[in-house]
Amino acid sequence: MTLSSTERKILEDSIRDIKDFPKPGIVFKDITTLLNDKKAYGVLMNHLYQRYKEYDLDYIAGIDARGFIFGAALAQMLGLGFVPIRKKGKLPYTTISEKYSLEYGIDEVEVHIDAFSGIENARVLIIDDLIATGGTANAATTLVNQTGAKCVEACFIIGLTFLEGIKTLEEKTDVYSLIEVH
Ligand code: AMP
Repeated sequence: MTLSSTERKILEDSIRDIKDFPKPGIVFKDITTLLNDKKAYGVLMNHLYQRYKEYDLDYIAGIDARGFIFGAALAQMLGLGFVPIRKKGKLPYTTISEKYSLEYGIDEVEVHIDAFSGIENARVLIIDDLIATGGTANAATTLVNQTGAKCVEACFIIGLTFLEGIKTLEEKTDVYSLIEVH
């Protein structure tokens, strides 16, 4: 199940480009304008529901922080539990963590060690708003798989295909991006 061209246009038109944010040379894809537009938000969530109701998923795991918005809403629509994958130092219980490289330096994401333990060999969908270099999503996928669960797909509203992120992540899991930016 993929987007119709009408649906894709509604979503594309609702996302705002902010040039040179947070630093010169970056075009920031602002999804607050999508969330603010009830038609576009509805198209998005309905599409995600229609696609993923067939996947026999056990959990939705959202990446800090915009992945929480779509992920938590989708989990509720599908009748599933939601797991936050957070930046280091935010989760209160025992965690496992994974470092990844940024342009300058490193960052780290964490998940609670028992987050997927309610269901054996849990099938997990990872979701975030955007994939760029893929560092965050790669680390998130590694974490999910380390807990004994399985990431069956990683879903992004926007995929920046001029970077290598999607290609690299595809070595670990299926990848779906609704809108591709070339
Ligand atoms: P990456 O690890 O390089 O794939 O970066 C993905 C994370 O950074 C996601 O959580 C995005 O929300 C954020 N991000 C990276 N680049 C952009 C961009 N151009 N516009 C909006 N968010 C971005």
